[in-house]
Amino acid sequence: MARVFKLTDTAPQTGDYQLDYEALLNKQQLEAVKTFSGPVLCIAGAGSGKTRTLIYRVARMIESGIAPESILLLTFTRKAARNMLNRVAALVGEEGRRVSGGTYHSFASITLRQYGHYLGLPANFSIIDESDCADIINLIRADLGLNKKETRFPQKKTLLDIFSKSVNREQTIEEIIESDYSHFSEHSKDIVVILERFRSYKKDNYLVDYDDLLVFLLRLLQESEEARARINQRFKYIMADEYQDTNGLQARITMLLGGNKKNIMVVGDDSQSIYSFRGARVRNIIEFPQQFDDCQIIKLERNYRSTSRILEAANSLMQHADEGFKKHLFTRREEGEKPAVVCCQDDQEQAMFVAARILELREQGVSLNDMAVLFRSSFHAYQLELELKRRNIPYVKWGGFKFLESGHLKDIIAHMRVVQNPYDQVSWLRILLLLEGIGTQTATEIFRKIKESDNPFELNEIKARPRAKEGLKRLSETLKNAAQLINEKPSRLLDLFAEYYFPILKKRFDDYPKRMKDIDALAMICQRFGDLSEFLSEIALEPPKDSSDNNMIVDSDDDEQLILSTIHSAKGLEWHSVFIIHALEGRFPSFNAFKSEEQLEEERRLMYVAMTRACENLAISYPGTMWDPVSGALLAKPSRFIDESGNDNLETWHISR
Ligand code: ATP
Ligand code: MG
Repeated sequence: MARVFKLTDTAPQTGDYQLDYEALLNKQQLEAVKTFSGPVLCIAGAGSGKTRTLIYRVARMIESGIAPESILLLTFTRKAARNMLNRVAALVGEEGRRVSGGTYHSFASITLRQYGHYLGLPANFSIIDESDCADIINLIRADLGLNKKETRFPQKKTLLDIFSKSVNREQTIEEIIESDYSHFSEHSKDIVVILERFRSYKKDNYLVDYDDLLVFLLRLLQESEEARARINQRFKYIMADEYQDTNGLQARITMLLGGNKKNIMVVGDDSQSIYSFRGARVRNIIEFPQQFDDCQIIKLERNYRSTSRILEAANSLMQHADEGFKKHLFTRREEGEKPAVVCCQDDQEQAMFVAARILELREQGVSLNDMAVLFRSSFHAYQLELELKRRNIPYVKWGGFKFLESGHLKDIIAHMRVVQNPYDQVSWLRILLLLEGIGTQTATEIFRKIKESDNPFELNEIKARPRAKEGLKRLSETLKNAAQLINEKPSRLLDLFAEYYFPILKKRFDDYPKRMKDIDALAMICQRFGDLSEFLSEIALEPPKDSSDNNMIVDSDDDEQLILSTIHSAKGLEWHSVFIIHALEGRFPSFNAFKSEEQLEEERRLMYVAMTRACENLAISYPGTMWDPVSGALLAKPSRFIDESGNDNLETWHISR
């Protein structure tokens, strides 16, 4: 007779804990940590210990004998997941690493490998990244003959963005085009055809992209009772951090993972919801309790992170928000210094201030790792990046690319390099390849002729395909004009090339307005240089290797570096000292947000996220005036969020030279 071997659900609680939870947590946190079963919502302001509560809850579960594998901890980024599991392991030992944890996407990929066959998905499916997707879309587009359209047709990356938004926001392709890409509305039908082809291509080749991971996991849980039962059997305790930024798919996945037992704990802060543009729905957290009869709601009101001055300013800001869950945080931490508001003359002075203040703090013993500079958009940090390079302050940048590594700026700089050195092969090839009808081989041949010529900018005699002739002529004229300006200020050259390059930029990139801003930022930086070679060597992409100059101000360990981050990528983290730069109307809040009240609300929440990252010091700065090329406006008004933080809560700093 076969024996039925019954696995017990949970080990008995021993009551003997190594960790002193009562001392390490406050009353509300402890309550959340001790409640293992049923739905729990912890909705609370920044720095109130939500993430800490999750970590200690996992630790206590493990100490109580619950199998780590049966706990699932979902987080927003890989960085956050790794960090939390490390902290659990530090508390309860290596066992903590056996907790199942990760992002919704990584969890989906593991689960689909195991159970995807219930959906007809083979276990050996391949996950493709964005660039693979873009290549496939490109093939399909060419196959359909859509790349040769008379009117402008969206590029592969744009198509991909439309598809992805449609999945994550659960809207139709038409709706996404209407709201985000109305200039492509005439192509809606063709775009839908491409999407259909793209889907069948992936299906036929067993390919799964990032968005499919969520879609398929949800389908698996909804459509296969057997798969769902097995998954529910495996994961008995579900926890999710930063729940305010989940989208509709993720919320439904979370519910289904909870199974019948509904041991789900979600934590988050509706005031920190900052991903609606990607489909996040703050109502997922607000309406969480309504889906159960017995949801326990835990509110945390004590902030452990920031000094009271910082907290008061952040609280005051959120008084202006049109919020769901009203909360007012308090702290028992010391009063501290008032957050500084620093009006600088311009972008450059702001960069100088931040760099100088960072060095001052470092002198006082604050490590670079404990400081962060936060900004609304990646390009706001460009000037600062140059200043940091100049002063040899090591930094890492999160979210967004490093300024001078972007292709369009390299293009502009290559033109300037050619003027400085007409026999610079790398730069020549780069600028020739930008022209229509010129491939690598032709470009190499052209360069050979240029090298032999006494008049390198004379390109009209060069034999080329008719299609390339026009481009070569324009380039030749521009270079000849540029040669006249070689002894003038380099900004004049840059203006000339920016004008020349604009049609190329427009053709190559759908997001050219954004890239134009970069070029404008570069032009602004360029203005302070007196001559071309000085400018080019300052921004050289490869810093000189045999640097014998000893202006090494910061004598740092290799792993000591300042963090530059977009606010979006700084979520959940904290630093001793935080700088928020470009707090200027038009930049933060950004121009795009002026269109709707909802978007302005999201900008305010972003500012709240930024301010509440600071433990001890907070400085909010802005350049007094600044030209914005896209809107064609002069920005000169400090961010409304400064006012909203309350003048009494802030201290104004003036820069003297
Ligand atoms: P955010 O909303 O920014 O994600 P959070 O609510 O997740 O913040 P945590 O990051 O968990 O907050 O905690 C903020 C800081 O306060 C951390 O340094 C944490 O260790 C500390 N902290 C939280 N609760 C306590 C406590 N009871 N005793 C001591 N320190 C605490
Ligand atoms: Mg947190």
